[in-house]
Amino acid sequence: MLFSICAWCGTALHDEPAGIADHYTITHGICEECRLQLFMDNPKAYDQFLDSLNAPILAVNREGEVMGASGEACGFLQVDHPDRMRELPGGEVMQCIYADEPGGCGNTIHCKACTIRNNVTYTLETGNSLHEVPAFLYMDNGEGRQKTEFLISTELMDPFVLLRIDKVFPSLVDKVPV
Ligand SMILES: [Zn+2]
Repeated sequence: MLFSICAWCGTALHDEPAGIADHYTITHGICEECRLQLFMDNPKAYDQFLDSLNAPILAVNREGEVMGASGEACGFLQVDHPDRMRELPGGEVMQCIYADEPGGCGNTIHCKACTIRNNVTYTLETGNSLHEVPAFLYMDNGEGRQKTEFLISTELMDPFVLLRIDKVFPSLVDKVPV
């Protein structure tokens, strides 16, 4: 029998969603009270919670904006504080080359095919988590454009989706689609 406790306060989880082992792929379980408190409390508490999970994790809202980030996510994105990315479109934060195009992240012709956006949207709409699914971005880190492949995981932590970057495979490409 599966037994889960809240990763934050340690109390037993009673209202376990179906398929809990898969559901809590990122948080490993959090009780409703802690979830609400973290969300209501302040962004810093949310960032601290993400920090406690020891992985690069972004919290993304329905509009595709980054609302929280762990320290490891900041390190990966070379941002010195989560406040610097809060409320910015995910693509901008992730250095997507298309985020600067007219309309911006979420509104360009490339966005419909964005594997990261589509996976986050899937989790928002279904509540289902994803575990280490492939995704990629054309990124520009200021030193050049490259296709970067990832394995990502997602979990709904209403009202946000947690997006964890599990593996990164950068590869230089000759030609980036425009
Ligand atoms: Zn709790």
